[in-house]
Amino acid sequence: MFGFMVTKAVLVPYPVKKAYDYAVPKGMDVEDGDYVVVPLGARHVIGVVWGEGADDVNPSKIKSIIQKYDVPPMPAPMRRFIDWAAHYTMSELGAFLKLALSVPSALDEPKSVKAYVCAKSHSPNTNLPPTGVGKALGMDGWKNLSPKHKAVMEIARDGLARRASELSREAGVGAGVIKTLHEKGYLKEVLVTQPPPCRAPDALRAGATLSPAQQLAADELVLATKNKYSAYLLDGVTGSGKTEVYFEAVAQALKQDKQVLIMLPEIALSNAFLSRFKERFGCAPALWHSSLSDAMRKTTWRGVAQGECKVVVGARSSLFLPYKDLGLIIVDEEHDPAYKQEEGVICNARDMAVVRAHMGKFPVVMVSATPSLESMHNVWSGKYGHLELPDRHGQAGMPDMHLIDMTKDKPERNHFIAPSLTKAIADTITEQKGQALLFLNRRGYAPLTLCRTCGHRFECPRCSAWLIEHKKTNKLHCHHCGYDTRMPPQCPKCGDKDSLAACGPGVERVLEEVRELFPDARTCVLSSDTATTHDELKKMLDDIRDHRVDIIIGTQIIAKGHHFPKLTLVGVIDADLGLSGGDLRASERTFQLLHQVAGRAGREDEKGHVYLQSFNPQSRVMQALASFARDDFLNVEAMQREAANMPPYSRLAGIIVSGRDEGQVIELSKKLGQSAPHAKGVQTLGPADAPMYKLRGKFRRRLLVRADKQIDIQKTIEHWLAEFKIPTTLRVQVDIDPQSFF
Ligand code: ADP
Ligand code: ZN
Repeated sequence: MFGFMVTKAVLVPYPVKKAYDYAVPKGMDVEDGDYVVVPLGARHVIGVVWGEGADDVNPSKIKSIIQKYDVPPMPAPMRRFIDWAAHYTMSELGAFLKLALSVPSALDEPKSVKAYVCAKSHSPNTNLPPTGVGKALGMDGWKNLSPKHKAVMEIARDGLARRASELSREAGVGAGVIKTLHEKGYLKEVLVTQPPPCRAPDALRAGATLSPAQQLAADELVLATKNKYSAYLLDGVTGSGKTEVYFEAVAQALKQDKQVLIMLPEIALSNAFLSRFKERFGCAPALWHSSLSDAMRKTTWRGVAQGECKVVVGARSSLFLPYKDLGLIIVDEEHDPAYKQEEGVICNARDMAVVRAHMGKFPVVMVSATPSLESMHNVWSGKYGHLELPDRHGQAGMPDMHLIDMTKDKPERNHFIAPSLTKAIADTITEQKGQALLFLNRRGYAPLTLCRTCGHRFECPRCSAWLIEHKKTNKLHCHHCGYDTRMPPQCPKCGDKDSLAACGPGVERVLEEVRELFPDARTCVLSSDTATTHDELKKMLDDIRDHRVDIIIGTQIIAKGHHFPKLTLVGVIDADLGLSGGDLRASERTFQLLHQVAGRAGREDEKGHVYLQSFNPQSRVMQALASFARDDFLNVEAMQREAANMPPYSRLAGIIVSGRDEGQVIELSKKLGQSAPHAKGVQTLGPADAPMYKLRGKFRRRLLVRADKQIDIQKTIEHWLAEFKIPTTLRVQVDIDPQSFF
C-alpha cells in the first residue's frame, strides 16, 4: 500500500514555515509548480506543488490533493526565489507565496466577453508597408471612413480581439463609433476571454537615434541580454536618456521572446512613462500597482503566468508575479526607499530583483541618477557593471545651484520664503513667463500645533507623533495611523481662546504665503492629499505640463521622473528637513531627494535655477548638492560608513518588539537584550525605545544587530530567538538590512 502512494509537498499561502505532504489521487498528473487545491484544516485552499513528498507517510494521516488548475506551473526559478527570499528575510515560506498568489481568482478559467476584430474582407493588405491607412488599403478599403472610424480600424488592423471599451479608449472615440463600424461590417464580433495587456509589443520599431555615449551603454546592455545572469548600474544625470538606453535592452529581450519587468517606485508610475513606452513599442505595457481594478489584476496575473503578457511595468510587488519566462528586470530609480516593503513581509524589492535575476539566469539593470551607496559599492567591488551617461540629452544643461543661508537671508516672522527666493520666483513667472516649483516634503498646514498660553501640544493618542493641522479638512491628522480630530476652537487643556499657534510650514502654509506674495499667480498644491486618485494626479500633471499653473507647491510626489517643459525654477523650502534624526542614511537620502527635485528645473532650452534654503549651507550635503559633487559625496559617505563599520561594509538587522502591553514589551526586550549575540564580529545594541515608541496603539522597542559581512547573520539571530517562547500578545519582527529605524 505504501509503495503505491505518490505524495507531493504543497505550499499554501499562509504563514507556514514549510510545505506539507499531500497524496496525489490516481489519475491526476501533477508536476512541481502546479497550482492545486488542498484541504487545510476544515478549509479548501489554493497551494503550489513545491516538490516531492516524504516516502514514509502514514496513508491514514495524509490528505489528498483535490484539484489541479489549468495554468502553467510556477517555474522552478520562481519557486527557488521564494525559498531564498523567505530564508533571507527570516519570514515564513508561505507568507512569500502569498505575495505571488495575490490574485487567487486568476486561477479560475476566465469568463468570455464580447470583443471585436477587424473583419477579413475589410482588413488592409498586409503585404504593404504599414505607413498610413491610404497606402495599405485592400480592394474595399477604408477610404469612405471618417477619421474617427479610421483611427479605430488602424488599431484593429493587427487582428487582435479587443473589447469595445478598449477600442474606444485606445482610439480616443466614443462607443457609438465602434457600434457603427460593427453594423457596417468593418468590425466582427467575437467571444473571447479578456486578453491580457501587452501581448504584442513591437520590438522591431526603431527607437531614438542614440548619442555616442548612449549607444555605447545600450550596446553593452543588448549584448548582456541573453540567458546568463549579469548586473548593471546604469548611472546618468536626470534627462541623460537612461530610459531610451534601457528600452534597447527591453527590445532585445522581446526579440528573444522573453518577458520583461520594469520596476518603478509607485509614485513614478506616471502616464508620461506609459505613453513613452507605447511610443517605443506600439502597445501599452501591463501595469501592476496598488490601485488596479480586480478584473485587471486577474487578467494581468493570468497573462503573466501564461507568458502572453510580455512587459510589466510595476511597483515593487510586481517582482512576485509568476512570470512564465522572465528574461530581464529593470529597477528604475533603484535608490528609492519605496522599494523597501516595511509592513507584513519586510523585504527590499531592489535587492530581491538581483536575486531573482540570478536564479532565472538573466540580466538585471539598476537605474539611477543618484545611485545608492550599496549599488555604488557593488560597482566598486566589481559585482555590477557600470554604465555612465554623463550629460543631459540635447541642449539642456544642468541647472545653476544657489544656496540660501537662512540665518542671513531671513524671511519675515512666520514666513518661510527667503527674500532672494521671492525675487527669483517673481523674475521667473513674470519676466521669463516660466514656472516655479516650491518643494517641501511635508503635507498639511503645520507640523506642530501648540498652545501659546500653556504650552500644550497636540499629540496622536495612538502614536508617538504630533498631529498635523490640515486646512483642507480643518482637522488635525496623524500621518502614521490615520487618526484625525476636528481642530478645536480653543486649547483643550487650559481653555484659552485664540492661543493655538501653528509651528513650522507644511505645503498648505507655503501656499498661503505664495498667495500673499503673488496674488495673481496660478497656483497648485501637489501632495497625496490633493492628488488622491490616479486621475486627479494625471489632471494636475497635465495642467502643469501645459502651463496652466505658474507656481507649484509639492511634496515628493513631484520629485520623480516628471518632465515639465516650462519649469525653470525650483526652490527647496527646507533643505535640512531630512537631516535631523540621525538616521544612518539621512545624508544620502537628502542628497538623493534634493538632487532629484533639482533635476526638474530647466529640462529644455531655458536655463534652470535651483535655490536651496538651509540653516547650515556649509554642511557637506549642501555643498555637494551645490557643486554637483556626487562622486565626492559618495566617496566621503563610503569612508564614514567604513570607519563606523556600517553597511555596506557590514550587515545590520533590526529586531522590533511590539505589543499593546507596555510592561510585557519592556520585559521581553530586556530578556532578549540579556542573551543577545555578542561575539567576534557581532554586536547587539539596545534594547531601546523605538523613535516611534507608540505606533497604532502598540508600544515598540528595538535592538540592532551588527555583524561583519562574512557572518551568517540569519543563523545567528535564529539561534538567539529560538530560546524564546514569544507570547501571542507580543510580536518580534526581524528586519534584515533595515532601511529605516523608526
Ligand atoms: P533619464 O531617464 O536619464 O532621465 P530620459 O530617457 O527620460 O532620461 O531622456 C530625457 C529626455 O530626452 C526625454 O524626453 C527623451 O525622450 C529625450 N532623449 C533622450 N535621449 C534621446 C535621444 N537619443 N534622441 C532623442 N531624444 C532623446
Ligand atoms: Zn497616530
